[in-house]
Order: sequence, then structure tokens, then C-alpha cells
Amino acid sequence: MTGGAAPAVQSELQCRACGGQRVFDPATQALRCTSCGAAEALAAAGEGNAAAEWEFRPGRPTPIPGGEERVHSCRTCGGEVIFRGQVLSRRCPYCDGPVVQIEQDPGFRPMALIPFRVASETALQNARDWVRGRWAVPGDLMQAVGEARVAGLYAPFWTFDSHEAVRYWAKYRHDPWWSDDHVWKNITGTMKVEFDDMLMPASDHVTPIIRDGILHEFDPASLHPADPGYLAGFAAERHGQSVMQGLEANRSDRDLLIKARIRAHVGKPGARVVRYETDTSGIRYRRLLLPVWILHYRYDGTPFRVAVSGIDGRAFGERPFSRVKLLAISGLLALSALIAGAVYGAIAAGTGLP
Ligand SMILES: [Zn+2]
Ligand SMILES: [Zn+2]
Repeated sequence: MTGGAAPAVQSELQCRACGGQRVFDPATQALRCTSCGAAEALAAAGEGNAAAEWEFRPGRPTPIPGGEERVHSCRTCGGEVIFRGQVLSRRCPYCDGPVVQIEQDPGFRPMALIPFRVASETALQNARDWVRGRWAVPGDLMQAVGEARVAGLYAPFWTFDSHEAVRYWAKYRHDPWWSDDHVWKNITGTMKVEFDDMLMPASDHVTPIIRDGILHEFDPASLHPADPGYLAGFAAERHGQSVMQGLEANRSDRDLLIKARIRAHVGKPGARVVRYETDTSGIRYRRLLLPVWILHYRYDGTPFRVAVSGIDGRAFGERPFSRVKLLAISGLLALSALIAGAVYGAIAAGTGLP
């Protein structure tokens, strides 16, 4: 099945000097021609406004993401460039020229992005170093990783701000010195929680590895307008969620954070949250694209991924464990537990503790 035509940016990405293909170059933060090397700085409109946030109005109708195929006819070679699902930017399969789609629906259009700053060579090196630095890796693993390449992707994210007026019911343990029984005390209270720039994935493809491992130090001051030039030569995924769906998908994360704040507010050891109610207001959001290098490799038939931040080069990922080395390590752990147990036993014997 083929869907509608895909309005896309392509001729604007071609070199003014020789007509060659230009891609975004992280090292110079410019569009660089892959034929003659000419570079041109990106001068995107609205540069000073890139970190702006938008107010969420719950009453507004929820837009429906277009998930069908969009077809673009390559202006360089005439080949068919197909955009499936949430693909926003890719290369022409025939001439390798970058093609960046223009999102027609303002309800899904990215508002800002942080451009790639880390070049692919550095990303590859950092990904390999990350794997090499793990403990208990199989001996032939680096061979499998050495054959892998990194791919650059702008991944879709949200930031959310909100005010939460929280009323909670909690309990904490109060152990009187005269008794071995635990006494639970109930406590209720109210508090305000302010969330600012909570970074949330806007796609199932953005795994916790990417968010918590490499992008948690998000700085809105680094945002630029979502100019197609930054996407040239990189893959990009657009937002397939409405704001409402984004809020819904991240409800459990918010819940964890609120419960942690409640426990801190109670301020007693072993405090437990029984339940809480929150009145959420002042929701503000941004639809963002953030740069990630991903190294895919296979070991023993199983796929693994290492993600490298396109902002600062931090790497984090998945890797196989060597069973032999793991056994040796678990043996050591068991031994240390035995030693600790023996020491504790010795102390207990000396003090009359059970
Ligand atoms: Zn050129
Ligand atoms: Zn082409």
C-alpha cells in the first residue's frame, strides 16, 4: 500500500557550489558537502526562542498520527523514497542523498532539537570502550563489536512541567524501645510538587538505556529550532503520540517521583505511601528531538545495543555475560558472603547477639 506524497526538504540541502549532497557535520555544526567539502553554517530562524514551552489545554481535540506510507520522488535521481510509520528523515536508497520530511500536522511537529555534537568515529570508539570496560565479558566479544557500525538517530522526546497539589495518606514505623513489635503510625498531609523539564521518551523505541543511561542531564539552553538542516544525513523519528498520550505513557514515572517526594516530606525512616491524590495544573510541554548514536551488534545470535549520547559521548548499553567468568564471580560473591557470615557469627558469639 502506498499513501500520500511526502512533502520533503531536499534541494535546500544540496551544495550551492557543486550541487552535491550536504549532510550535517557535528564537528563544525555546519552543512558540509560530501563531494567538494564546502561548509555552510546553519542559520535557523527563531534561534533565540528554541527553548520555549507550550501550554497544554486538555479540552483540545487530540490529533491522530498519520502512520501510513508517504512516498517522495528523489529530486536528485528520481528514485522512490518511502517514509514508513514515524520516519521523519532518511537517505535515498538509490543515491544516498539526505531527504528530510516536513511534518504537516502541527500537533506532531518537533519544536526544537539538540544537534549532534559527537562525530560518528568518537561514538564508535566510546561504544567499543564501554563494552571493553565491562566485567565478565566473553573473550571473543570485541571481535563481534568490532564489525558493528554506529547509526545516528534523532529520537523523539517530551519535556513536561507541572504543578502538583498533593494530598497524601502515609504510614511510618515507630518502634518503641520497650517492645519488639513494630508500631505503625498513620500520617496525612498536603504538599506541593513542581516538575520542571521532566524528560520523557515519546516512542517505544526510546528505551530506558537511552534516557536514563545517557541523556538524563538535559539542558534546555542547548536547544535549537528543529531546522531540517540538522537532520540531513541522519535518521529521525517523529512524534507518534499526542500530548495526552505522552502524559499517559509516562504516568508511572511521575507516580514514582511523587511517592518519593511524599516519603521525603514525611521524613521518617521506613515511611510508606498508602495513597495520594494530586491536582495537576500548569502543564507545559516541548516536543523535542535528541541525538543518539546506536551501535547494534550480535553475539551468539542475540542482538545487543549500545547507545552513545550525541551530545556528550556518554555510552551505555547491553552486553552478553561470559558464563564461565560469571560463575567465577558468583563463586567469589558466595565466598565473601561466607566470610561476612563467619565474621558476623564471631561478633555475635562475642556479644551474645542471636
Ligand atoms: Zn559541493
Ligand atoms: Zn536519490
